[in-house]
Amino acid sequence: MGFTQVRLVSHSMEIENLTLDADTPGQKYVLDVFRFHGSGSGPAVYVQGGLHSLEMPGTVAIDRLIPRLAAAEAEGRVAGDITLVPHANPVGLTQVVFGQPLGRFDANTRVNFNRSFPPKSASGLETKPASERLKATLLKLAEQAEVVLDLHCDDDGPVYLYVSERQLEEGRRLGRSMGAQVILTDASDDPISFDLAVGERWAADNRNERFAATVELRGMIDVTPEFAEQDANGLYHYLVSIGTVDDTLPASSEVDPIIGDVDAAELLATPSSGAVLYDVEVCDWVKSGQRLAVVVSKPGAAHQEIISPFDGQVMTRREVRFVRKGDDVIKVLRHPLP
Ligand SMILES: [Zn+2]
Repeated sequence: MGFTQVRLVSHSMEIENLTLDADTPGQKYVLDVFRFHGSGSGPAVYVQGGLHSLEMPGTVAIDRLIPRLAAAEAEGRVAGDITLVPHANPVGLTQVVFGQPLGRFDANTRVNFNRSFPPKSASGLETKPASERLKATLLKLAEQAEVVLDLHCDDDGPVYLYVSERQLEEGRRLGRSMGAQVILTDASDDPISFDLAVGERWAADNRNERFAATVELRGMIDVTPEFAEQDANGLYHYLVSIGTVDDTLPASSEVDPIIGDVDAAELLATPSSGAVLYDVEVCDWVKSGQRLAVVVSKPGAAHQEIISPFDGQVMTRREVRFVRKGDDVIKVLRHPLP
């Protein structure tokens, strides 16, 4: 990282501009980090959006959250330090090819921005590509907090969470605040994603009580003023519920999300290419043997049906309605029908 510029915006909120050298001369990336300093009586929280660059629901939710936290701070109601990174991936945001933004994988290393995190002990990072230095920087920011929320979105999906299985109870609290439809639990210790990589660092320091989650905020095009406000409300509600912000709010939804193991959420692939016509919507309950979609492989001649192999709930669909042979068409959570 290069120089750090700190601007004081309100009494104690800071915007810190962390700079990251690009891999070629003459370019730098800037990571804007918003910090609210708490009184120390509540847990410290880190929230980032856009680790997959283009996933904007988290970014705009943070935008709507900031003025609420600034108001809380002005009234002395911030109890725990809060760190917000609305655009966590300035590297991925620069990747545009022929007008198509490509923000999920690093175009240089071909690695998913939410995979392959460097261990804390990694040395020689200054010699590594920008994507690796970015990951190390984000992890270092996040691991200082006691609660970490990594905001993503799917192609087309509901609000849902990924949490470690042993942290399901805290996941339920977050899920109720966010109005999540589903919580997927992961029993593995394999630190494949950002939240689990943070958890691995905490575990190494015997800080297993700390909580990290991936929050999926619907689909790529679900970026509206209403959803941004709703998600900012959910985040604010959660911050109040854990004591990071002092406020009095109505109780959150008592509707518990559906719980499923991450391996029970299965992607169904198509054996043939074509245009996708879905029969079902996100969150529909479906029966084993039910047709979920048709792939129009030869218009006027041949169709490929995508059939649910089990009872369950539709979790996600594709945003782009053209598939190639072997592409995933739909994700269904294996679950008894309600
Ligand atoms: Zn993502």
